[in-house]
Amino acid sequence: MRVLRCSLVALAMTAFALAQGRQHPVAMPQGQPAAAPPTAIIEASAVITGRGNELHNTRILVQDGRIAAIGPDVTSPGAVVYDLRGQTVLPGFIDVHEHLTRHFGSNGNADDPRESQQQRTLGVVNNLWVTLMAGFTTVQSVGEPQDLVLRQYVQQGIIPGPRILTSYQDIYGSPYVGDDTTLRAKVDMLKYEGADLVKIFASDSIRDGANPILTLHQLQVLCGEARRVGLRTLVHAYRGSVHNAIAAGCTEVEHGTYGTQADLTFMAQKGVYFDPQIGLVIQNYIEHQKQFFGNGDYDASGFARMKQAMAINDKLFQEAVHTPGLKVVMGTDAVAGAFGHQEEEIIARIKLGQPAMDALDAATSLNAESLSLGSKIGTLAPGYRANIIAVAGDPLANPDFLRKVSFVMKDGTVYKDAVAPSSHPE
Ligand SMILES: [Zn+2]
Repeated sequence: MRVLRCSLVALAMTAFALAQGRQHPVAMPQGQPAAAPPTAIIEASAVITGRGNELHNTRILVQDGRIAAIGPDVTSPGAVVYDLRGQTVLPGFIDVHEHLTRHFGSNGNADDPRESQQQRTLGVVNNLWVTLMAGFTTVQSVGEPQDLVLRQYVQQGIIPGPRILTSYQDIYGSPYVGDDTTLRAKVDMLKYEGADLVKIFASDSIRDGANPILTLHQLQVLCGEARRVGLRTLVHAYRGSVHNAIAAGCTEVEHGTYGTQADLTFMAQKGVYFDPQIGLVIQNYIEHQKQFFGNGDYDASGFARMKQAMAINDKLFQEAVHTPGLKVVMGTDAVAGAFGHQEEEIIARIKLGQPAMDALDAATSLNAESLSLGSKIGTLAPGYRANIIAVAGDPLANPDFLRKVSFVMKDGTVYKDAVAPSSHPE
């Protein structure tokens, strides 16, 4: 409850401060169903486009929720001007792997058996809010049925949050998972329910040993059926399951711990996306160990296995970014405690040696491509959705500035404008 209460107080204070201090429109955090956002111009001294390049001293014209033009001379009579000079402007970040509904309950723990439905809903809405405030304007949740109503309410502007894609639920390997017909039916059911993708567990948890729980044949059936009905497949895979997921023609490998250089090369050859984690999820579990401990496999041996995996994950990540042609996307695997801190994954990747521009491209345009949204989001260019954020410094010089998100616009609506007027150069 402490986490939730602090954030709601902060949220209310932000709304108050914004209402008092600034004449620019900022969406009510409570999320009134959005009226069409006004035409806006963003004045910027530094813009990172999401496609490996940087623009200086330019203006971004936003109309009808999209970027209409970029250039030093663009203008539009009556437009609201956001002066972001002195900040670094970026595309809104995208996280391809989150568990949106995971939160600490009123007892402070990940497992709260007495939690009411209202408490649960508020915990999840808080996840959405702090995620948006951290500059993430699109997230992919892997996933629970409750995600569907969240996706809808955010899309309708009833609650504030990032654009949501969801797997609805996952397909978990087990001796009882069923024959090929049953496997295909599971995929078809997800399509029917409105899932944006299929999340498949080909291995059990790293806390349980990271053992295979689906065969190559089963993965071929699942990923083949998903492809047939037009759904992408994200496969939670460790050890030999990594090779199987690639060989089965699945879209993306999650985690990949205990994978090999041969697996990474195979992924690159087959155009399979790779989503490793080094900066947030295990660190968050350790930081909040007391709040997770005792729930299922979150026991002494589970934590020991997660800690052991950290150095292994770091090494695999470094091999991955040096594997020619491998598309390394940015997913945090955020769970309770990690929301609002998703930038830590990007920061860790840069600190472990990935060039900062590559890490930022991964979290924006490459992630968008992996969601089949590469022509709509993740890039600052005319025609793209106006998902535009700013941070209070140059993240290419110091990635820690990614923690200082000063401005958030989603689809042309401003949700955060915390740029101090004094920071604007004259
Ligand atoms: Zn996950």
